[in-house]
Amino acid sequence: MRKLGAVVLLGLLSSCATHQSPTGRDQMLLFSGSEMAQMGEKSFAAIKEKETRATDKATIAYVQCVADGIITALGDTPAEWEVVVFDSEQVNAFALPGKHIGVYTGLLEVAENQDQLAAVMGHEVAHVLARHSNERVSRSQLSNAGLQIADVFLQGTANRDLYMAGLGLGVQVGITLPYGRTQESEADVMGADLMARAGFDPLQSVALWHNMAEAGGGSAPPELMSTHPSHRTRISDLERLQGQVQPLYRQAKSAGIQPRCRR
Ligand SMILES: [Zn+2]
Repeated sequence: MRKLGAVVLLGLLSSCATHQSPTGRDQMLLFSGSEMAQMGEKSFAAIKEKETRATDKATIAYVQCVADGIITALGDTPAEWEVVVFDSEQVNAFALPGKHIGVYTGLLEVAENQDQLAAVMGHEVAHVLARHSNERVSRSQLSNAGLQIADVFLQGTANRDLYMAGLGLGVQVGITLPYGRTQESEADVMGADLMARAGFDPLQSVALWHNMAEAGGGSAPPELMSTHPSHRTRISDLERLQGQVQPLYRQAKSAGIQPRCRR
């Protein structure tokens, strides 16, 4: 058992140096895609338990319509992703490994049209594509629980429950805490690309962050504002990106990809 534990741990550690994010950044990833999907599944179930679901059919259909566009641009079919609208004033949305998207109705007051909502959704889905949760869970595992897990394995007392308890800690730290700045910028770049391919105008991402800046202050939403880069930095970065993503948007349009989602 002791040997097996050590081997498993070494396996985890040695697999970590080989990963690169979609934009070519080195990543330390300790978990497999299916482990991350399991954590995402659990977190999403917990959030669904806690939050109230929106019941307004038009609102749900509108959010689903935008999600369908983004999901299709990924090469997935809409049925593969679970999209849930939560009835809450929070100006927030998130995506989790395992193909889950959550949108709070408060966001729809700030994201004024389909393109702005697509900017947020593209950004959130990009966090998942770029395995940002995996990075955060991995980092927290190594710094805290990782050491405990190593200890447990090496003492030969490892069992699945303890391992899962460690994972649980990782989930709390990694999935529900905000992302870092590097991850945020990466999600912005990838999100703009994704929304453009889905036929949403990426210039609206700039308008969105202007709206966010105006709406800011009040009830500081977790994902979208707390550790995100300053609005000014983000807006100028997104403006600079337009040269790259507008051609993709025009291509999508001329290929007939023109979503029409209305609330
Ligand atoms: Zn983000």
